[in-house]
Amino acid sequence: MRSKRTKKTKTVCTFCGVGCSFEVWTKDRKILKVQPSDGPVNAVSTCVKGKFGWDFVNSEERITKPLIRKNNEFVEASWDEALDLIASRLGGIQKEYGTGSVGFISSSKITNEENYLIQKMARQLFETNDVDNCSRYCQSPATDGLMRTVGMGGDAGTIKDIAKAGLVIIVGANPAEGHPVLATRVKRAHKLHGQKLIVSDIRKHEMAERSDIFMRPKQGTDQVWLMAVTKYIIDQGWHDEAFIQENVNFYDEFKAVLDKYTLEYAEQQTGISKETLIQVAEMIRDADGTCVLWGMGVTQNTGGSYTSAAISNLLLATGNYRRPGAGAYPLRGHNNVQGACDMGTLPNLLPGYQKVTNDAEREKFEKAYGVKIKPEPGRTNMQMLDAIMEGKMKAMYLVGEDMALVDCDANHVDKVLSQLEFFVVQDIFLSRTAQYADVILPAAPSLEKEGTFTNTERRVQRLYQVLPTLGESKADWEILQAVARRLGADWNYSHPSEIFDEMASLSPIFAEANYDVLADWGSFCWGSLDGKDTPLLYEDGFNFPDKKARFALHDWVQPVEYEAQYDCLINNGRMLEHFHEGNMTNKSKGIQSKVPEIFVEVSPELAKERGIEDGALLRLVSPYGALKLNALITDRVQGKELFLPMNSVSKDSAINFLTGPAADINTSTPAYKQTKVRVEIL
Ligand code: SF4
Repeated sequence: MRSKRTKKTKTVCTFCGVGCSFEVWTKDRKILKVQPSDGPVNAVSTCVKGKFGWDFVNSEERITKPLIRKNNEFVEASWDEALDLIASRLGGIQKEYGTGSVGFISSSKITNEENYLIQKMARQLFETNDVDNCSRYCQSPATDGLMRTVGMGGDAGTIKDIAKAGLVIIVGANPAEGHPVLATRVKRAHKLHGQKLIVSDIRKHEMAERSDIFMRPKQGTDQVWLMAVTKYIIDQGWHDEAFIQENVNFYDEFKAVLDKYTLEYAEQQTGISKETLIQVAEMIRDADGTCVLWGMGVTQNTGGSYTSAAISNLLLATGNYRRPGAGAYPLRGHNNVQGACDMGTLPNLLPGYQKVTNDAEREKFEKAYGVKIKPEPGRTNMQMLDAIMEGKMKAMYLVGEDMALVDCDANHVDKVLSQLEFFVVQDIFLSRTAQYADVILPAAPSLEKEGTFTNTERRVQRLYQVLPTLGESKADWEILQAVARRLGADWNYSHPSEIFDEMASLSPIFAEANYDVLADWGSFCWGSLDGKDTPLLYEDGFNFPDKKARFALHDWVQPVEYEAQYDCLINNGRMLEHFHEGNMTNKSKGIQSKVPEIFVEVSPELAKERGIEDGALLRLVSPYGALKLNALITDRVQGKELFLPMNSVSKDSAINFLTGPAADINTSTPAYKQTKVRVEIL
């Protein structure tokens, strides 16, 4: 018989953008089991992280009291002491140096309501648009490419809709490890229902092995094959002329841009044979609906946004929008990448994708917040770092992001953060970034708070508090409110639902969303300007004034050049077992025991050529830093391509000690995937 103290609570997984929801069975602070229920996304499944990755919440490494730096050491402080210090130092810096001297970094690890409050704090209390979130490191180029073509940055339909496609094309993503429950739907449709699968990736991962066509383009050349296949389809008359005439602008201009993207040119640039590209085109022609799923293998390149636009162009040319089982699916990595952006923690956008440059939209927020908001976009994450180095930005307020591990060129980030006059970090652990802080505020993880998250398919779901907060930690929204009140703000939220209601009242796309709609297993997909639940985008036309999409007219952006001594490409990505940089899953014993060490994958060809044995200790050297790692010889990688998981089980092995400053030309998302190294055997 169950103990009276045993309870089960509905919540949402924080480990990836699929957004599985389930019930957590607990007794006091002990997690007894995680039980998936028939939620809107995952039905009855979860992956290993969702089921077994939670004991970090009881880790002895949790921060449970505010910490203040004194004589270069962190000492415990009372909340009053910490809040007084923050208010006086941030307020003082703003007064002394003016607007633009304090920057804000938000995170996809925290709830929608908390993201809303961070942008509100920046705009209302510091009169700045210098606020950004970690989508800058991953998904901004995908959003940019979609905004250029179809006018909205979200997935075209639901995760369940993907199973209805005749063909799924996965470009630069490994959903079997990054989005496991979504991948399960694709695997099932492929195996049982005749769905075709094409994978374009430099690494032969599980989905590649299952595919009907696996292409291995040279890194940074996806845009070339996408444009060549589009051109070939149009040249053969396999495109959807009626759809284009009715729904898409700039067709003639687009055909002119495609002119040079012949199959011969594509073969030369990408290394994919003409015959394979013709097979891809034929498979798109024959499919009843094509969905393209893509991830950071596309976005984290110098041409990430234009490659994303090229994906959307291909779908437009073949009439693959405006119906279930067709369309663009950028795979949001973290659980709340989508929500962080929706809530306006972006330098150019207010909540609900309203622009700071649009007078009417900005004035609505000015009226609500009682301040003037700058009509120019603020600084991105990277521009904030530049401003700190230039002495223009003096203080930073960061919530939940370990930028000293996840931003490119970690050695440079170290130098930047040590320049700050004052630095506040809210986190659940003493992250690498927090070690540069002046004040660290103990935050509560998702199991210890209420709020909402928005998954990759734009679906907002509720989480309920599973456990009491640990020690003196607090939910991020409560911390932000306490800081704001110290700074003189009249914030009086007693529950996240009140924050959500305020956000929805200012954001037309959320007009019909509220906590009653979201109660229990309820959910809401944003996507229409009248604020209705919109699982399928663009049913009433694309998001431009004339309701027509636009072909994007952009040439291929070539990858970064390196000196000849850096002759091996170091690819990087997720592992099934770990969440992102590993801050949480590293502290989950079951997960950590399965993957105790980090490694670098080396191809059998390179191992033979250089005499590298399995397990050999290698030193990888880039122009920006060096790492020591053990080799794992596998044919998942080929030639001079290496692969390093992005979770840093040991912080000394983080990929970003090797990455450099090259970035997507539109969004400044780092081109992490275009890093080259020299390999030394130790
Ligand atoms: Fe679902 Fe992703 Fe969590 Fe796995 S990590 S349970 S796929 S939300």
